This record gives sequence, structure tokens and C-alpha cells, in this order.
Amino acid sequence: MAKKKKPRSLRCPTCRVLVTAETENFPFCSDRCRLIDLGKWASGGYVISTTINDPDQLDSIAEEQEKSANGKGSAIDG
Ligand SMILES: [Zn+2]
Repeated sequence: MAKKKKPRSLRCPTCRVLVTAETENFPFCSDRCRLIDLGKWASGGYVISTTINDPDQLDSIAEEQEKSANGKGSAIDG
């Protein structure tokens, strides 16, 4: 049986900084980022309305959320 190595570094899910396994808040870079990520789930950032039953709509909602999550700092809106 082959032993699978644990990852020694991962990207912080909140700010994408490289975090090593020695970090206290691994895989988050800091306690703050950990709380931010938890807060996203708690405050409704990932909540999908139960009134939507159309899978296609769910897809586009997920896309919109990804865009708004990645699009900070590069607003080129006319
Ligand atoms: Zn972070």
C-alpha cells in the first residue's frame, strides 16, 4: 500500500497566498482569512435561493459569484 503524502503547501482559499503546512491556520494564511471564508458561507455568499429550480440558472449564478470573487481590483467598466 502506497502512502499518500499530505500536501505541504496550499493556496489560501481567501486570498490565494501560498500557505505552508507549518502555518497555524493552514490551509488559510491567517486567522482573518479563515474567518472571512467561514463568513462567506454564513452570510449567504454561497447560498443559492431555493426559489430557483432551473439547473441552467444555478450555473449562471455560480458563474456570477465566481466573477465577482475574482474581479476585485480590475474594474474596466465603461
Ligand atoms: Zn489569506
